[in-house]
Amino acid sequence: MHEAPLGLIGGTFDPVHYGHLRLAEEAREMLGLAEVRWIPAGRPPHRAVPRVAAAHRLEMVRRAVAGNAAFSVDDAETTSDRPSYTVTTLERLRAEAGQRPLVLLMGADAFLGLPAWHRWRELFELAHIGVATRPGFALSPDEWPAELSKAGAGRLGSDAAVLRTAPAGRIVGFDMTPLSISASLLRAQLAAGSSVRYLLPDPVREYIDRQQLYRN
Ligand code: ATP
Repeated sequence: MHEAPLGLIGGTFDPVHYGHLRLAEEAREMLGLAEVRWIPAGRPPHRAVPRVAAAHRLEMVRRAVAGNAAFSVDDAETTSDRPSYTVTTLERLRAEAGQRPLVLLMGADAFLGLPAWHRWRELFELAHIGVATRPGFALSPDEWPAELSKAGAGRLGSDAAVLRTAPAGRIVGFDMTPLSISASLLRAQLAAGSSVRYLLPDPVREYIDRQQLYRN
């Protein structure tokens, strides 16, 4: 058996919200993670340029996770001027972690898009994957894109205990409280001048107000 795994959550966090926070918190509990490291993306290569600068997104994540002793922030992607690839971040973290299990956390939507990621098959060599699903909806490989099913079906585990049997290579789903919050929705609400209170932490909302972010 290996030591308790380190969870990793990446994203643009443009801005960070309670959907992200509950994903990390519920994964920590359900998957037995010792801690969760937050890794805001710098220049995400797969998607549109983030609406606000990396330094702001990093600061919002810092404010969102402050006070949770199990959460920490990794600023390497946001302080680099190279495109952020998850595989290169995982290579760095694997070199630091030795044999300790790493669990890359993501929502089911992100998981199904995995074949579009740079060198995606190598992710399985570097970390486990923890996928947040809706309660009652198990991960079923016959509903995945064919190449993901081919590479990942044999890796699927039904129990979080498998995450401690190896440093990397397994896929485990966990039920998450459904929260239909997205950063896109928040950006639209902020641009329209609508209230976003109770959708993200107050310190993040106050930062957005003070810095006048996401206004049209
Ligand atoms: P956008 O609306 O701009 O696409 P987003 O809110 O989906 O952004 P990302 O930074 O793209 O946020 O997401 C980072 C990770 O958080 C992804 O793995 C995504 O699946 C997950 N995630 C985002 N929102 C939720 C949510 N409401 N519930 C569960 N997981 C979420």
